Amino acid sequence: MAEKQLLLEVVTPDRMVLSTEAEVVVCPGVEGQFGVLVGHVPFLSALEIGEMYYKAGGKTEFLAVSGGFAEVTGTKVTIVAEAAEMGREIDAERARRARERAEKRLAAAKTEAIDWVRAEASLRRSVIRMKVAGR
Ligand code: ATP
Repeated sequence: MAEKQLLLEVVTPDRMVLSTEAEVVVCPGVEGQFGVLVGHVPFLSALEIGEMYYKAGGKTEFLAVSGGFAEVTGTKVTIVAEAAEMGREIDAERARRARERAEKRLAAAKTEAIDWVRAEASLRRSVIRMKVAGR
């Protein structure tokens, strides 16, 4: 008999990134990574810029997510993120250039005023994208 599956949906303001069945979903919550199986108690969590993954049919797929929220019920995980990409969608060279720009901005902070929060978030997005692109 087929195992019970969760419905996983990942959406951003631009698009539906993913809608699939999954046996387990693991997300980068602000209070730490959490995993969801069918029957999980309902909850809502803010997400970090980080890596998420799900397992389906013996395969594990990774995504980069850039903040947002996860809504969990016993049968469904909905991720609403500012941006999210499947590993195969990520342009690693673009992420590398974004990292370089962010690193330069942060280095310039020694001599000029920069938007630290923005540069630091941009650095984290690029590092996560590079990591997920290689998965
Ligand atoms: P960049 O400076 O390269 O645009 P960014 O961190 O500013 O990077 P975001 O604002 O997070 O980019 O994302 C803008 C859009 O571009 C989103 O739809 C996101 O999914 C997509 N995106 C960003 N970087 C990449 C990448 N390296 N590969 C594929 N899509 C990307």
